[in-house]
Amino acid sequence: MTKTEAVKNRIFAGSDMDYVGICPSSVLEGEPKGHRPSDLLPNAKSIIVFGRRLINGSVQTKFRFMEDGVGNIVGSYSAHSFVLSINHLCMKQTYDIAQYLENTFGCFAMPVTNNVLQAVQPEGNYAPFFADPYKAGLPIDFYKAAVAAGIGEMGWNHRVITPDNGPRVYICAIITSMEFEEYDKPYAGPKLCDPVKCGVCSEVCPTHALDPKKGTKVTICGKEYDLGKLDVNGCSVACFGFRRQLNPRTGVVVDKDSPTDEELAEALSRNFEKPGFQTLDHIPMFHCERCLIYCPVGNWKEKFADHGLSDREVK
Ligand code: SF4
Ligand code: SF4
Repeated sequence: MTKTEAVKNRIFAGSDMDYVGICPSSVLEGEPKGHRPSDLLPNAKSIIVFGRRLINGSVQTKFRFMEDGVGNIVGSYSAHSFVLSINHLCMKQTYDIAQYLENTFGCFAMPVTNNVLQAVQPEGNYAPFFADPYKAGLPIDFYKAAVAAGIGEMGWNHRVITPDNGPRVYICAIITSMEFEEYDKPYAGPKLCDPVKCGVCSEVCPTHALDPKKGTKVTICGKEYDLGKLDVNGCSVACFGFRRQLNPRTGVVVDKDSPTDEELAEALSRNFEKPGFQTLDHIPMFHCERCLIYCPVGNWKEKFADHGLSDREVK
């Protein structure tokens, strides 16, 4: 058995992960200073990316709120698909996998913070990590690493889209000094995201933060992906729940779809003053997620619409 096979087997079988891929750490060496693997682990050679699919029953609680107005269940999404259990589970598994790598192969294994929960001091205003990983304080862009490691492709919605679960996955990473005999290649199956034919993510975006037509390109391992032009602050307004239709309990409302950094920072500072506001996530960011929950890739129709769990028409 090769090292690559041994590590993947351990992660699949021992840590119950649904996805595992390995890419050379050099794929992220072109990132800004402080966010390159070698800045974080000077002898970095590889990035091991792994993750779990989100629970469909938890994802559908978002439809209950957004389509039926049943708001008392959104905690299921927040706890099990966004922060608490999924994050703790992945932290624990990441810890175990890092211990296994160091004990078995005598390498260095640096677990990467896998969500804003463990993020260090943000460098700008807070932002949802898919929208602007470095503004959210993440050390590396593990979505790019996931794409390089073959887990999925980048979607118009700036998320990693997998063939079987669309963007409804939770991804973690370990940077290691270990070298592997072979590395995964980017996903090469049928194109998953076609924004011209689909466009659902832009259509459902409550603050019009994700442009339906204008986009940017990102190149990962020589492969080009189209990303929608994303207004990070507009997205943040929705994700932080600064609108009553997204968060009926909000004490802070931001009417503008596209606030300036200063306006967003001011709203955030008012939110921080509210008693009981502090959460493990520093700041709750689960209030939107529409471009994730409604993305049709990953058998969305068969999983949700065909069971009467969403009224949304499938194109
Ligand atoms: S909703 Fe459609 S356009 Fe948006 S990321 Fe998913 S597949 Fe791509
Ligand atoms: S999370 Fe919501 S606000 Fe942000 S881009 Fe997706 S749909 Fe738009």
